[in-house]
Amino acid sequence: MVRLRFAPSPTGNVHIGTLRTALFNFIIAKKLGGKLILRIEDTDKKREVGGSVDNLLKVMKWIGVEFDEGPHIAGEFGPYTQSQRFDMYKEYYIGLINEEKAYYCFCSPERLDIVRTEQQANKQAPRYDKHCRNLNPEEVQKKLKNNESYVIRQKMPEQCEIKVHDKLRGEICFHADDLEDQVLIKSDTTPTYQFANVVDDHLMQVSLVVRGEEWIPSLPKNILLYKAFGWTPPEFIHLPLILNKNGGKLSKRQGDVAVEDFRSKGYLKDTLINFCALQGWHPREEGKEIYSLNEIIDKFEINDIGISGAIFDTDKLDYLNGYYIRQLDSDNLTNICLPYLKENIQKTTNKKKQTIEYAKKVVVLEQERLKKLSEIGELTEFFFSDTLKYEPTLLIWKKSTKEETKNNLRQLYDTLKLIAEDNWTKDNLKEQIVSYIKEKEGKIGDYLWPMRASLTGKSASPDPFEVAEVLGKEESIKRILDGINLL
Ligand code: GLU
Repeated sequence: MVRLRFAPSPTGNVHIGTLRTALFNFIIAKKLGGKLILRIEDTDKKREVGGSVDNLLKVMKWIGVEFDEGPHIAGEFGPYTQSQRFDMYKEYYIGLINEEKAYYCFCSPERLDIVRTEQQANKQAPRYDKHCRNLNPEEVQKKLKNNESYVIRQKMPEQCEIKVHDKLRGEICFHADDLEDQVLIKSDTTPTYQFANVVDDHLMQVSLVVRGEEWIPSLPKNILLYKAFGWTPPEFIHLPLILNKNGGKLSKRQGDVAVEDFRSKGYLKDTLINFCALQGWHPREEGKEIYSLNEIIDKFEINDIGISGAIFDTDKLDYLNGYYIRQLDSDNLTNICLPYLKENIQKTTNKKKQTIEYAKKVVVLEQERLKKLSEIGELTEFFFSDTLKYEPTLLIWKKSTKEETKNNLRQLYDTLKLIAEDNWTKDNLKEQIVSYIKEKEGKIGDYLWPMRASLTGKSASPDPFEVAEVLGKEESIKRILDGINLL
């Protein structure tokens, strides 16, 4: 049975690329009937951010990525947090030293600095000069006895080609000269990412590694370590890079990159699943972009993962979110919009406008247009305001005049007043008002624009009949009168 793992480091919020990796691992595990492990790679304590793991688990739960083994579930290959496995690593690095595949390096940070500076001055790539690679055993023992500080480095092969394999890209060649004798164990005896990652993938019987393209430079190092141990490496799939619209690296400076930020802005989980899946997966059905998680699992083929960079297109993200918002039923949508309406609701003194029923009417009216939930507050503020603030000129349509507008609003006021509250529906309002305008041989815009503007105080909003229905008779009439008085 294929075993996959998702191996994030606990360094803060969940980057959208990290979510994509988790999701692809989950989808592939499901597709192949395999198992998915969550392993926390916390070997670098300096980079660790408190609360990251809880936060990660929360995000995974929200999205629906489930694990078969992990720190929160246990399993027969645990512990699943690397800092709890430090004792297990010793026999493996001692084994490599005994077989002369790794060695103690006693070079001080100061010496390494000098070497690096010299290399830079000579325009050479900075790398360890293998000073301790051939120390004689007595010397090593003496230094160890003296408690000299050391790291353990792997003896990398010299002057040869290293061929590695990626399931999507085929063979990739690296030159041994480009790889330095990598540190496996740091001076505080904790393992490096390179070491712990390989040992754990082996011990946890991982057979397929799915991770981002940024890890390709690690691949030859991983493979050489497997070789040093005499272990069979897993298969590798490197997902394409996620790029910004200009083809550069996706960075915080260009906008949100953390899943938590997308969530708090009101992107739905179905949107993020659909969007992340399309960051690398090219479904065969042409023109189809909407995919639920189940459908993705059903249709997914490893061969349909691309290798060229996936463009992070926020317009597409908004489009998908708009689609999924439109699929929600009104109760559900109202509930998830409530946090974003809180400020508006707090501002009004009108009890009726503080009810869920009112919020629901408002939300349903905006559902068609809504791209993210966080927009709902600003879009609907006018529904909750006790009095609107706007420039009187907003009420005047194109070539119309102030007098004409005032006159038209007054006629609308008189007509609307006669419509019974029971008949205060958008369809009836439209019928009555439009036939009134026709009868008067007036221009639609000269009436409906000032009506809409006086009801909303905005130049763009839903149509006046829809707004009037939600506001109710009393409030609509009051707003039109306020408009008349403003002119
Ligand atoms: N801990 C690495 C990360 O933060 C894992 C890389 C890998 O999957 O090998 O993504």
